[in-house]
Amino acid sequence: MDMQGKNAVVTGAAKGLGRGIAEEFAARGARLALIDKDRAALDDTVAALNAAGHQAVAIEASVTHREPCRAAFAAAVAAYGRIDVLVNNAGIYIRTPIERIDDAEWDVIFDVCLRGVFHMATAAVEHMRAQGGGRIVNISSVDGFVPFPAMAHYAAAKAGVISLTRSFAIAYADDNILINSVAPGAIDTGPMRENGYIQKLARERIPLKRGADPREIARAVCFLASEANTYATGENMIVSGGLVVA
Ligand code: NAD
Repeated sequence: MDMQGKNAVVTGAAKGLGRGIAEEFAARGARLALIDKDRAALDDTVAALNAAGHQAVAIEASVTHREPCRAAFAAAVAAYGRIDVLVNNAGIYIRTPIERIDDAEWDVIFDVCLRGVFHMATAAVEHMRAQGGGRIVNISSVDGFVPFPAMAHYAAAKAGVISLTRSFAIAYADDNILINSVAPGAIDTGPMRENGYIQKLARERIPLKRGADPREIARAVCFLASEANTYATGENMIVSGGLVVA
């Protein structure tokens, strides 16, 4: 899974899984354009990567609507000339019982988790078609097909990511752009640690009895994003420690 000479864009890369993906890609030789709305955390991630001898640039943007997404992708192209890989990782989750989900909360989940993916992928395929190919990996979730009722809106948006991935894969197969999603189970990131949530889930639902380290998910993303992947497109790779089969 060599990424030497590859230029990759990762959204939501300041923290959590996105940072793990950036570190994994960098360790394998990729140059990075990292997008996040949290400027301070993004600067911290980019500084750490560059201090370790890697090459990364920060692009501050909120990936929810067409124009900011197009501008952020254009900034990445301007930094490196060509972009070989896009990872749509930015996402948010809010736990709210179904009867208390209001329109504002519904919209914010769908804006980040689904519309942002659509607009970033649209900008990427336009660029990748012109250069003769590329790879896109969208981060979905096991919630897309094993929903937890306290996140019905998030689960629906993630099911949408899996569907969008399939549509894009069919539409751009002739352009040599392979487009897949990765569905993580529980990853040991900040939001999952609140109130001991991940420990309880691990005990009760995960055969491997722990949440994933972000780098364990990042390696799956890396395979699909690399030239080692020559035949997977429109697929959803589950990496859940056995959660979906228990
Ligand atoms: P996190 O909250 O630790 O990190 C998310 C990052 O995305 C943050 O840096 C945040 O600033 C950024 N972000 C949020 N909204 C943004 C926006 N509008 N524009 C740009 N950046 C934005 O979350 P995480 O746990 O690392 O999750 C990363 C992805 O993995 C998400 O898509 C999430 O749905 C998915 N996922 C996470 C888990 C888990 O257990 N943590 C499980 C399955 C899927």
